[in-house]
Amino acid sequence: MLNPLIENAYKVLDGQSISREEALEIAEKISGEDILDLISLANKIRKKYAGKIIPCSILNAKSGLCRQNCRFCAQAAGHHTGIETYPLLGKEEVLEAVRKVYESGVRIFGYVTSGYGYKTVTREFQAILDTLDAIHERYPDLKICVSSGILSRKTAGLLAKHHVWRYNMNLQTAPSRYAELISREHTIEEKIRTIRHLQESGVTLCCGGILGLGEDWKDRIEMAFAVRELGVDGCPLNVLLPIPGTPLERQPVMPPADVAKAFALFRIVNPEIMIKFAAGRETIMKDFQGLLMLAGLNSMITGGYLTTRGRSVEDDKVFLRQLEAF
Ligand code: SF4
Repeated sequence: MLNPLIENAYKVLDGQSISREEALEIAEKISGEDILDLISLANKIRKKYAGKIIPCSILNAKSGLCRQNCRFCAQAAGHHTGIETYPLLGKEEVLEAVRKVYESGVRIFGYVTSGYGYKTVTREFQAILDTLDAIHERYPDLKICVSSGILSRKTAGLLAKHHVWRYNMNLQTAPSRYAELISREHTIEEKIRTIRHLQESGVTLCCGGILGLGEDWKDRIEMAFAVRELGVDGCPLNVLLPIPGTPLERQPVMPPADVAKAFALFRIVNPEIMIKFAAGRETIMKDFQGLLMLAGLNSMITGGYLTTRGRSVEDDKVFLRQLEAF
């Protein structure tokens, strides 16, 4: 028999919304095999409102050397993680990486740089704009996403003019706990202002976060509703991979059953947006990645992450074809 809390959430399939209180009750009371019923509902909502699973690939165009100190991040200069660091890649190197992505059949490309962001038009920011122009000129049908931190109205507007389809600005966690769980070097308000500047410029938004940072269910539901209220278009969800050298190196890995419940709730709260399985799919969730993709997700990153490797695009193509049977 279907748990009455899940039965009530079926109203989302009829176009109604669930409240924050209802979502929190599901998060706190559903367990065991009822989670499979929740996954099934999330997959039905995904199919009805969000559609097919579409992959994207990302390039870390500037790695590490960051003066911020986000607690989870391998790229903060103050965390001694031993990752490969390099300054902004030149146009030709980026074009070569884009060629590989394009030839693999992926049509959404994410250009990512480490660091606080660009509130003024520095030389480096101008180099990014030039590179975006070159990508668009060579691959006009490729959708370009950028993730380059905090922006001003001016720099947001320039990205819009230079062919950016979508910008990634992650909330990372519940906005009310950003300072405690992520960083006090910058604020969640700066991030939200950046989202607004981009929306005003006509750029679509990808705005998600990380599960397993030490947040509780109330925080996860707060983030799911913040995503809904910001009116963004996509939500990448990462599962924390505790990286040696970061303050979270000893953080316990989130159990797959909790990840499934969280993914399903993000979909039930946000029926129509693109919800993406970002980092943690292969490295942390291993055997559960197929089940988790069925918990309402309609996108995933393929071909590796910012500082960790992933599965090959070829293997993921087979995986995606098999997922379509559900
Ligand atoms: S998440 Fe971005 S801003 Fe924060 S430390 Fe990492 S690279 Fe720097």
